[in-house]
Amino acid sequence: MNCSFRIGHGYDCHRLAPPPEGGPLVLGGLHLNHTVGPVAHSDGDALLHAVTDAVLGALALDDLGTQFPDSDEQWSGVSSKVFLSRAIQQIHEAGWRVANVDATVLLERPRLSPYRTELRQEMAQLLNIEPECVNIKGKSGEGLGPVGEGVLVEVHAVALLHKGD
Ligand code: MG
Repeated sequence: MNCSFRIGHGYDCHRLAPPPEGGPLVLGGLHLNHTVGPVAHSDGDALLHAVTDAVLGALALDDLGTQFPDSDEQWSGVSSKVFLSRAIQQIHEAGWRVANVDATVLLERPRLSPYRTELRQEMAQLLNIEPECVNIKGKSGEGLGPVGEGVLVEVHAVALLHKGD
């Protein structure tokens, strides 16, 4: 099959807890000031994990958990920017580029709106595209379920890839 576009979907979640169980709250490579953070093997950046899986998924490449297993000590505490950079490197080597990324972050606190511009810039740099091609939306859990209770962060992401420059 010869096609010029591929779409991928990614999802991730991390339980949130106070330190020392939870680490610093990192989303999209940014440290957000908050009282709880992800319980994770890496830095627990759910936004980067979901976007990395969306990018890899678009080309049906092995997913994040397969390429960077949490049973492997070399990924312990590592910045998730490394995972996304490696995924981007793989799609570039295969002749593809990211067209745009759209992600929804389900998080009760903090609200993402003050961080939105910086998040888009940071993500754009990692994806090697313009900030106008990155969208990140924050949603609360309306006080319901684990997101609403502030003990879970969830992220859904889609990435469109195109062939060539
Ligand atoms: Mg994760």
